[in-house]
Amino acid sequence: MNKLIPAIKVKNLSFYYHTQKILEGVSMDIYQGKVTAIIGPSGCGKSTFLKCLNRMIELEPEARVEGRVEFFNQNIYERRVNLNRLRRQVSMVFSKPNLFPMSVYDNVAYGVKIVGWRPKAELDEIVESAIKDADLWDEVKNKLHKSALDLSGGQQQRLCIARALAVKPQIILMDEPCFALDTIASVKVESLIQSLRLRSELTMVIVSHNLPQVTRLSDFTAFFQNNENRIGEMVEFGATKKIFTTPVDSRTRDYIFARIA
Ligand code: ADP
Ligand code: MG
Repeated sequence: MNKLIPAIKVKNLSFYYHTQKILEGVSMDIYQGKVTAIIGPSGCGKSTFLKCLNRMIELEPEARVEGRVEFFNQNIYERRVNLNRLRRQVSMVFSKPNLFPMSVYDNVAYGVKIVGWRPKAELDEIVESAIKDADLWDEVKNKLHKSALDLSGGQQQRLCIARALAVKPQIILMDEPCFALDTIASVKVESLIQSLRLRSELTMVIVSHNLPQVTRLSDFTAFFQNNENRIGEMVEFGATKKIFTTPVDSRTRDYIFARIA
């Protein structure tokens, strides 16, 4: 096995909304080029954790983070960190497609244009290749200048992934990317994630409640749960195979075996 290199090291991360503690003492590594799944019951802080990884959480009022999140050895919570750059390098896909009311083309070009001006031909090429990478090209190539909001839910989600890919992120965070989709659309998004997984330079973190999907898609799994004080903790982290066959913690075992059996 190739050596594992952490792209992100989370060190003793705690999180509060105002005075309410939501996450406590989470430490884990997210390995470069791998897919890490975050699983656990609703309300245990999975979405919150994900948003701490690119400081998206600071868009929430009264959010407070303690601890460190090191992205290739730099603590992203240092004041001098450029937030726009960080969020390009660590981009996010939400459970509901959140496209802009613009054309298919403009949705993908949007983030690229923010980075800097490019000749039209170059922009066209970036847009096309991102949409191809998102397995969507054949479905939208004749609708590039139509509204993105007219696409189906599954197509919209793949377009969100294309938009994320267009700025060449190192990490993509996905919060229940198949949540709002029917079975067929979910299968397409899942196979897209599988094909992105083969491009070993991309790192992905995926929150999912679909445990069979997690076993198919991820290399590592972190199990989160609220403790007796109703504060989210990371209970166990390990290779997905290990977590799903021989978890060490009885809480992991109870959660997984109740849902897989
Ligand atoms: P999960 O994604 O695992 O379902 P969340 O991260 O969404 O969990 O939520 C974790 C906890 O934080 C929950 O108790 C939720 O009620 C609380 N929470 C989420 N968003 C806010 C907010 N904006 N203000 C206060 N509490 C919040
Ligand atoms: Mg959530």
